[in-house]
Amino acid sequence: MNKICPLSVVDLCPDPTVPGSVANAQMNPKDMAFQAIERNMEEIAKVGDSIFYFAELGMQEIETSKLLVQVLRDIGYKVETGISGFATGFLATYGSGKPVIAVHTEYDALPRGSQTPGVVERRELVPGAPGHAEGHNTNAAVLVGAAFGIREAMNKHRIKGTVKLFGAPAEEQLVSRPFYVRDGYFKDVDTAFHVHVGDQLSVVYGLKSSALISVEYEFFGKSAHAGNNPWTGINAADAAKLMDTGWDVLRKHLPLTQRSHSVITDGGIQPNVVPDYAKIWWYFRDASAKSANDLFSKAKKMAQGACLMTGTTYKETVMAACWPNWDNRIVAEVVQSNIELVGMPKWSEEDQVLAKQVQKAARIKEVGLKTEVTPLTLAKQGGGSSDSGDITYVVPHARINFPANISGTEPHNWTAGIATATSIAHKGEVTGAKVLVGSMLDLMTKPEQLIKAKEWFDQELAEAGIVYTPLLPPETKPPLKLNLEEMEKYRDQLKKFYINVPIQFK
Ligand SMILES: [Zn+2]
Repeated sequence: MNKICPLSVVDLCPDPTVPGSVANAQMNPKDMAFQAIERNMEEIAKVGDSIFYFAELGMQEIETSKLLVQVLRDIGYKVETGISGFATGFLATYGSGKPVIAVHTEYDALPRGSQTPGVVERRELVPGAPGHAEGHNTNAAVLVGAAFGIREAMNKHRIKGTVKLFGAPAEEQLVSRPFYVRDGYFKDVDTAFHVHVGDQLSVVYGLKSSALISVEYEFFGKSAHAGNNPWTGINAADAAKLMDTGWDVLRKHLPLTQRSHSVITDGGIQPNVVPDYAKIWWYFRDASAKSANDLFSKAKKMAQGACLMTGTTYKETVMAACWPNWDNRIVAEVVQSNIELVGMPKWSEEDQVLAKQVQKAARIKEVGLKTEVTPLTLAKQGGGSSDSGDITYVVPHARINFPANISGTEPHNWTAGIATATSIAHKGEVTGAKVLVGSMLDLMTKPEQLIKAKEWFDQELAEAGIVYTPLLPPETKPPLKLNLEEMEKYRDQLKKFYINVPIQFK
């Protein structure tokens, strides 16, 4: 042990071969990382804003992932693209050896979410186009800000370990992360974090969301002239409708915990042609992976019944499948201590005025932006889902919610897209990056916390009798064409809004 080192762990001593490290010898790694993040607030904001204007739907995050890969390479990360067959997914790695700390996040936009930032009326940038009406663009900004902060602290204090950052496409369709788990990307990971935009600075632990299976059913019939010879046709759209109606009848006998919903994405072209093809897309959700799977088994019977009634045939394709999130109490406590250390952003008068105007427009209480951090609580299980769920059954995990949006606005509604490229978002991004880096550093420098987190993880799963097996069928491939057509309708029109600014962390 080096006696003159002011820090308690020799690995935290500055490395004299790294420029600036001796000068910063008295600054602890966390402060150093926080300073690096604050110094680069503008660069972090540029990442978030650039992605806001790319406004790319899930699986089509081409410009977004290109920018993130470039920035992460520029700051010294080794980046592998196309992981698990996802063209817009990536894994960026820094450092080496144990512990291995992972961070994952999404950056997809929503259909018809286009909105001019900072404007308190419905004003689409491009009519009908996608947009960041939840703020996943800010998730990516936090990821990059933290990537730079942790690099600074690791370099200058010779902190051992590996940072793995995962870019996770198509969260809105709950796609990518179960593939990453299935393909073993989390095998050597000790702890993982998810960063996600919200209106508060918070973390919870325990069971949170619902398991989900996303399935497309295609029905095949025979076309005919609907006026002259309808009896020679086999109507595929009728099969889709009957499946839908049959499920609605069944619904009253299903557990109260289930949520199931569908859209008929192809129901024929025009009335005088008997549709020979139809497609209905379902989300089956329930409180556990097993019960979601039970719904899926019932749906198969419903599809078969629709075929019997109409004379059609069908094909089912699982688009995505994920477990409910189950976050780790010990990791959440580490995050909470950093939440309290960092605190809420210092909102300006203009930030608060904008927030209240947006709340008025959204017809919700005009309370402005939250100014206090949220206490640590046990999660409540809700009807939503996240494809991050599977990760939480293979490694201790926590999700950090950072305040880059306005309290009370409803994600997926246009009002939730007003703040996500304004100073509210920029301040929230810096706050999120600091909490994330602080939590990563705590786990990297206090191995006893990692051991405790793993013990909690093993004990909780054992007590609940949970043995993780993926819901995602082994043969499932990433749906690369998902959203392609919809995105291509708007991509060229959106280009004139791209901000095209150089991003250079310093
Ligand atoms: Zn989200």
